[in-house]
Amino acid sequence: EKYSSTKNPRSADTVVQLCESRKPKPEWENLSFGTVFTDHMLLIEWSSEGGWGKPRIQPFGNLSLHPACSALHYAVQLFEGMKAYRGQDGRIRLFRPMLNMQRMLKSAHRACLPSFDGAELLDCIRKLVNVDQDWVPHSDSASLYIRPTFLGTESSLGVKKASRALLFVILSPVGSYFSTGNKSVSLWADSKYIRAWKGGTGDCKMGGNYGASIYAQYEAQDFGCQQVLWLYGDDHQITEVGTMNLFLYWINEDGEEELATPPLDGIILPGITRQSILELTSKWRRVKELFGSGTACVVSRVCGVLYQGQKLQMPTAEQDNSLVSRLLKELTDIQVRKRHTHTHTHT
Ligand code: PMP
Repeated sequence: EKYSSTKNPRSADTVVQLCESRKPKPEWENLSFGTVFTDHMLLIEWSSEGGWGKPRIQPFGNLSLHPACSALHYAVQLFEGMKAYRGQDGRIRLFRPMLNMQRMLKSAHRACLPSFDGAELLDCIRKLVNVDQDWVPHSDSASLYIRPTFLGTESSLGVKKASRALLFVILSPVGSYFSTGNKSVSLWADSKYIRAWKGGTGDCKMGGNYGASIYAQYEAQDFGCQQVLWLYGDDHQITEVGTMNLFLYWINEDGEEELATPPLDGIILPGITRQSILELTSKWRRVKELFGSGTACVVSRVCGVLYQGQKLQMPTAEQDNSLVSRLLKELTDIQVRKRHTHTHTHT
């Protein structure tokens, strides 16, 4: 039968249907983000009557959705973003994947989509990565991006909880942004557009947050800036940068070196890359470094902010002993297993 009666998708029930011929692999260098996909995908269906279906690993292909599907009409949708890395020892590892499972469950709760056992889903994802293991780049400068996605597939137009849902996972080899840590981005800081607000969904990884941000991203480009520095409230609090968390490394009023990042107060996406929670101050004096963090680029330095018509220059500390360089090295060393850590699990 299609659905199991349990509350959870079970990895042990996974049905695998392999594709007949594998696609040729791309060049691992110069991959553009999210354009190339692997040979297989994982699909798990849910219905309110039947519970979770058997996980299916099957050839990568188009979905068939009812035109009234609630993900398409009301953005009953969420996703995750994580990576599998090939270590220097040749083994494939995911970086802190249970944190992504937990964040996904939090988003699912907010979207009124069903809960599941994160460890079971992770095990299914490991099976998928294993089937497509040749797609994990044999390169220090590329990795396999994993995109779990969860859709409400209610096939009626009422604005209500979905009684059917589809969870799927696709994989895409991506180039590394390793070098981006030594490049910098300029930011457009304007309170005209708001990414997230108290009581909203900014702390969940829902597609609607991202679709609604694209317009501002293009306006930033019109002003000659590369990314949006998202502000909040009448006092223009700094929240996030593009799709990254933001850090400020500065010497505080007590003369101490301090790393600051906005607190997780409901409007910040709790980034896995985000290292600590510190209070952010609006003081720009004595700033040492300003940078974003995220799975895609790891860390990305900010060189300037255009705010109320004034260009605020940031020190870019290009030297090797900058905090950005140190963090980039430390994190990427962990990710490709140059350094031992228990936060990293095998696929
Ligand atoms: N903020 C936003 C809005 C994001 O989309 C992301 C990417 N998931 C991040 C921050 C960074 O999160 P992570 O470190 O988990 O990739």
